[in-house]
Amino acid sequence: MSWAIRGKFRELLNREEGYERRPWGNALAICLAYPNRYRTGMGNLGFQTVYRLLNREPAVICERVFLPDPGDEACFSPGSLPLFSLESQRPLRDFDIVAFSLSFENDYPHILQILALGGVPLLAGERTAGDPLVIAGGICVTMNPEPLADFFDLFLIGEAEALLPAFLVALRRCREKGDKKDDLLLALQREVPGVYVPRLYEVVYGIEGAIAAMNPVIPSLPRTIGRKWVPDIRELATESAIMTPAAEFGAMRLMEISRGCGRGCRFCAAGYIYRPARFRSRESIQGAIAPGLAKGRKIGLIGTAVSDHPQLLEICRDILAAGGQIGAASLRLDMLSPELVALLGQGGIKTPAVAPEAGSQRLRDMIRKGISEADIITAATNLLEGGFERLRLYFLVGLPTETDNDIEAIVELLRRLSRLTTTAAKGGEKRFRRLTASVNQFIPKAGTPFQWHPLEDIQTTRKKIQAIANAFRGRGDVKIAAEPPKSNYLQALFARGDRRVGRLLLALHNREGNWAHARKESALDPDFFVYRLRGAREILPWDFIATGVPKTLLRKEFEAARLAAANKID
Ligand code: SF4
Repeated sequence: MSWAIRGKFRELLNREEGYERRPWGNALAICLAYPNRYRTGMGNLGFQTVYRLLNREPAVICERVFLPDPGDEACFSPGSLPLFSLESQRPLRDFDIVAFSLSFENDYPHILQILALGGVPLLAGERTAGDPLVIAGGICVTMNPEPLADFFDLFLIGEAEALLPAFLVALRRCREKGDKKDDLLLALQREVPGVYVPRLYEVVYGIEGAIAAMNPVIPSLPRTIGRKWVPDIRELATESAIMTPAAEFGAMRLMEISRGCGRGCRFCAAGYIYRPARFRSRESIQGAIAPGLAKGRKIGLIGTAVSDHPQLLEICRDILAAGGQIGAASLRLDMLSPELVALLGQGGIKTPAVAPEAGSQRLRDMIRKGISEADIITAATNLLEGGFERLRLYFLVGLPTETDNDIEAIVELLRRLSRLTTTAAKGGEKRFRRLTASVNQFIPKAGTPFQWHPLEDIQTTRKKIQAIANAFRGRGDVKIAAEPPKSNYLQALFARGDRRVGRLLLALHNREGNWAHARKESALDPDFFVYRLRGAREILPWDFIATGVPKTLLRKEFEAARLAAANKID
């Protein structure tokens, strides 16, 4: 089987454009790991960006590893053929560093799978000087790295461009000095802003089980870790480094045009964690369009708030003038002007996506969405008049203070949109041929105003989603797309837990993904982290991360949301 998997990896590389094989020499060897399949990882702009940034360093060589495809896992076993990198096909253990890029908590079990398949001890405390340093970065880590504390030597908190240069310089200096692992980690913690070495911090728990204190083991170490971020992204060319048809969005050249968002929707982790709102300049984007289109016929506009880019219309026109197509994720409803709609149509978008999030005005106000029903109808009308026949809408269920009336309001809104007609469109009266409502459970995230709020019981959420689906059963014009909320419990656990949750993650791994067994064996009650309303004065597991938004402000927003809901609840 070894030859087959080696051949498969070579085939993947052959299909890639933009990848360069570099000799190892004395370079610092980093294996960049994406804890999901190749197809998903290569469609992730954050992962691609870190790969490009690391390989730009002359003294660094960066290769990639992914979770093996179903069926391929059996090819790897630590005793015979340990998991190896895509490029040189060297085992993970040969690298100086295994670096994970973490965007989704649901991928956490895959981290342990990758380490185990690579023959790397799972627990940081069990790794020796001969093992690679295991590190991680990404939005999950910036929000709350604690459930992963036992498995990682070090975390990088914030944005890669702002973190990596100082980290690599300090690392190189320590290696040249021949520092032992403990000395190296201590030096990195002391010297590099944004570095967090969990073993250098001790957590004390109170009798009720909540955190009583978190202290550095050496008093001179910082008590908080500041998120590092790039102040100016006007010239920052964050784009796909490698194009391959085997990736999600294969023919689309991904291009970041905005980072952060100033709208302040209370539920939105990206909106809080990536603050402040920053935009790549039109001039810089213009310069990248022609080279980008030489590699893919479509430019995928990526960002926390793409439709807030002050020159979005001009950027779309630039792409069209260069003969390209446009791809864009969800757009804000109140930004869908007739001009933008026309450009999206010309750019080849077939099903635009918008996010009302809630059906009732009361809930939209409570989450501070800043969108009225009139905005939704105007946007939908503009889309119809612009010739669009399909529309995807994103909704959240399980929002704080939600009642059955709010669920009914989602149904009503969809009914209203499905009846909406316009006669201004070419060819007479038009209505949407297909509305797809993507209904997801709300998961309160660290670093947002709802961080104190519990996850709604998943059985309750399931019933709500079912009620929405039942309302449109048998109808071809409205489709309800909803993932069963089963995995949301684990997502919430990993997003909201403290470092004790690592034990549950390890049990889950040891039980080969059987959550029922893992839970039964553990003395820890996961509901404590998932379903409990946290106290106003409670020390939260992620409080030591200074994201830039003070906890007092988050609390003020949380109270304001509760007040808004209480005043308007029906
Ligand atoms: S939901 Fe959209 S508009 Fe609201 S904060 Fe997040 S990115 Fe910004």
